[in-house]
Amino acid sequence: MHRRRWLLADQLGPHFLDDPDQPVLLVETREWFRQRPMHRQKAHLILSALRHRAVELGDRALLLRTATFREALAQVAEPVEVCHPPSRAALRFARSVPGLTVLPPRGFITDHADFAAWADRTRRGPLRMNDFYRHARRQHGVLVTSSGGVAPPRRPAAAAPTAPPAPPAIVEDDIDAEVRLDLDRWAADGVRFVGRDGPRRYPATHAEAQARLTHFLTHRLPEYGRYADVMSADDPLLAHGVLSSSFNLGLLDPEPAVRAAEQAWRTGAAPRTAVEPFVRGLLGWREFLWQLYWYFEPRFRGANWLAANEPMPEWFAELDADAVEAHCLADVLAAVRDRAWTHHTPRLLVLGNYGLQRGWRPAELADWFQRCFVDGTDWVMNATVIGMSQYADLGRVDTRPYAVDGADIDEISDYCTGCRYSPERALGDLACPYTGGFESFLYRNRERLVADPRLAAELTRRDEPEHREAVLAQEEKRGSTAP
Ligand code: SF4
Repeated sequence: MHRRRWLLADQLGPHFLDDPDQPVLLVETREWFRQRPMHRQKAHLILSALRHRAVELGDRALLLRTATFREALAQVAEPVEVCHPPSRAALRFARSVPGLTVLPPRGFITDHADFAAWADRTRRGPLRMNDFYRHARRQHGVLVTSSGGVAPPRRPAAAAPTAPPAPPAIVEDDIDAEVRLDLDRWAADGVRFVGRDGPRRYPATHAEAQARLTHFLTHRLPEYGRYADVMSADDPLLAHGVLSSSFNLGLLDPEPAVRAAEQAWRTGAAPRTAVEPFVRGLLGWREFLWQLYWYFEPRFRGANWLAANEPMPEWFAELDADAVEAHCLADVLAAVRDRAWTHHTPRLLVLGNYGLQRGWRPAELADWFQRCFVDGTDWVMNATVIGMSQYADLGRVDTRPYAVDGADIDEISDYCTGCRYSPERALGDLACPYTGGFESFLYRNRERLVADPRLAAELTRRDEPEHREAVLAQEEKRGSTAP
């Protein structure tokens, strides 16, 4: 008898199935959405993707709507198997269900054993993504030169306007209409969401995701290297393909995407300076974060080396962009509210940086990112928020805290023109909250940060007693009010 393959909500692409006749189980549980307020558009995307997959699979699929996953599994007559779930909680649950077979992970290029062997070898210092990326490229023969070497890291991008054609539009269908009605009903029954509802913007099927990937490889990849790190109020996408939710829902398999990008370089369709950062995102960062999640101990999520214990203010938690005057923060918070997505630079330098400067609790911020971003998962947020963004892990993931001031934001964005604040000013009515916040962060954490050469130099440059006291007093007064 066939075992029934249970496809979790992040295992919805064709690469999570082998046998065209194998029966499939899909499960929707309202309780899962009730646990913590999720962005409304993220909830919509997950339900839409599950229901579209059930329709695609036709008679093979059994879609159950139950209060809990355990209740659903109890209704299935035949033995059930599932690919390695994406979180520790889900894996613990899967292993606790009698008779449920847990298969190895899919949807990733590297494997746990190889990563653990690499990490154990380099364990004396922090684990660096660049070192792992070089290792993974050699291991998988990606972007390897004829001499067998791998190219050095790329140079930073330069900002300039770009106007590639819009990606293929998402057309909502009856399934989306039904999802919207269900979510309205759930909200009326007390299930809480954050963010605004809106037309579905992200792929819910493999076909939609593949169309977006093909479009990206053709039209945006050639410019990706130049625009990957910059921010613009006029163009939130720039050269980004916004494919992260498609990879994290399992609609796209990363390995063929990496190979296709490499092929674009080999055929001359895109320069190596554009292909390399895209490959770095998938084979470097994505794989690194996934493997770190399983390599680090479960208590990593609670790391708080900078002793940051301030609660996140309500205006931020509830995505109240209208309460904010700071142009960059208002724009990025509005993007999260309206689209449940921004690219990595606003996440790190505008959102994460603001929380870091003010000492917000890292675990609370990680949870917020996970719930509010359409691609948010436990395994991504652990290393990116606790490690990189909030530096709560004593540098086990990255080399330095992502603390920057307004001048740094001004250098890589067009936000400061037209902002009521001045990026160079740390004091006074025009003081940029990021510049005052940066200095206050340095002064408050001086003992912990002196080992970082960049921050130590910044401290020396700015550490004049009268100025320091004035900045600390100003930032304390600003407290948790929206800037
Ligand atoms: Fe942001 Fe400061 Fe620039 Fe305003 S001046 S946009 S608050 S960095």
